[in-house]
Amino acid sequence: MSQDNGQMQPDPPRRVRDFLVLTIGAIAVLTLLYLTGAIGLVEWVTAAIVMSTGALAFFVGSAPSPRKDQASSALQTLNPVSGSVTDNAVEPFVLALPLPALLITPDGAVATANIHARNLFRIDSSTRPFPIAMLRQPDLLAAAERVSQDGAEERIEFTQHSEAEVWMAHIRSGLEPGSVIMVFEDLTAVRRAERARADFLANASHELRTPLTAIGGFIETMRGPAKDDKEAWDGFLDIMGQQTERMQRLVADLLSLSRIEFSEHRAPKTQVNIVELARKTSLGLTPIAKDAGIDLHFDGPQKDVGVIADSDELAQVILNLASNAIKYARTNGEVQVLMGEAPTMADAAAACSRQSPDAKRAVLLQPYASTEVPAVWIRVTDNGEGISEQHLPRLGERFYRVDESRGGKIEGTGLGLAIVKHIMARHRGGLAVESVEGAGTAFGIWMPRLRDDAPAETV
Ligand code: ADP
Repeated sequence: MSQDNGQMQPDPPRRVRDFLVLTIGAIAVLTLLYLTGAIGLVEWVTAAIVMSTGALAFFVGSAPSPRKDQASSALQTLNPVSGSVTDNAVEPFVLALPLPALLITPDGAVATANIHARNLFRIDSSTRPFPIAMLRQPDLLAAAERVSQDGAEERIEFTQHSEAEVWMAHIRSGLEPGSVIMVFEDLTAVRRAERARADFLANASHELRTPLTAIGGFIETMRGPAKDDKEAWDGFLDIMGQQTERMQRLVADLLSLSRIEFSEHRAPKTQVNIVELARKTSLGLTPIAKDAGIDLHFDGPQKDVGVIADSDELAQVILNLASNAIKYARTNGEVQVLMGEAPTMADAAAACSRQSPDAKRAVLLQPYASTEVPAVWIRVTDNGEGISEQHLPRLGERFYRVDESRGGKIEGTGLGLAIVKHIMARHRGGLAVESVEGAGTAFGIWMPRLRDDAPAETV
């Protein structure tokens, strides 16, 4: 500490120490946020650079200079009693944080709110400073008071924007006695994923319990009232066999879904000739179609078309869509698997639609890929009962079955389209459905393809 013109100035070692304490502290907080997944690597690096540069500029700016009035800048930085760093020094960090953050004075005014905090609480940028009550979150206000008085760190969860968002406030004391710093973490996606997982578990357990209850019931009957009625046993065993198959299908679909979800964020790497794959997969269903009295046709380009894909997953997409079409087509009906190339993803999306003026359409998955890349599309059409408009947008949700509400008897797990949707997401593709009630349904998928000059491997 040095004395100059009667004003306190930070001596160089203390400035260096304050700079290091603040920078290391801020980087530690950022690292914590990065490790908890609240921010990404790019945000970590950007904020770390901005903060350390800001801190350096601030401390260099507050250094005693022979040409400058040393007292004025130092007063903003130092507490005159303790000679330590004040909350003014924290301001650049609050402003540079990639998360909403506030700095609150001991008398309950928000001295600094970064742009993210202003957006979160819808506070005009011209309002500065403002009372903490303007946040309109009584729990936050009470917590800020407690932290201001006793200094113990708190975390408060609250909802914002008509409960559409869930946030966690990390509240701790500032550098000056009584001041408080709040940093906010968006928990909306985490809470939504938790709820989806809970719903999924409840649905999966329910779907497994239904056939198990049926099998258990028949076992009881065969042990009890129908013990000696061997003729009835054949019928019971048939139903038990069907229920076992249903459980096996469900477990197989659940395993596929979890495997695909696990790999969804890793892009596929193999080059695949999608024409050959689609032809083999759809024509492989000919015996099943014949048994059901359905005519199955495939029509695609007379040349190789290369895509970057996981060939097993892509085959599963075609299998699920074509077997659904066979399952839901009329007896003596017709199922067509058509495919083609398009100059762009946008053209492919248009080509996927049946273009019937009466058709209702829903895009179930918007592709992540740019609309301008060359694309390939596949359309699977049947002439079954069709699907009414209100169901269309919900297809592809796990366990969503239109048939259940129709009271129909067609077996299914309600997971086939969810699997298709996840696989197409992994392949940066799209999924759409179009239906005319009473006349049939068409499911379309489209995804980026390799340019014609890229040789495609044959699967
Ligand atoms: P499921 O195993 O029940 O067929 P999916 O996820 O494959 O499950 O399909 C979900 C629901 O969408 C089905 O239960 C059915 O009601 C409806 N659906 C799917 N494909 C068709 C189609 N081609 N025609 C009519 N309805 C269909």
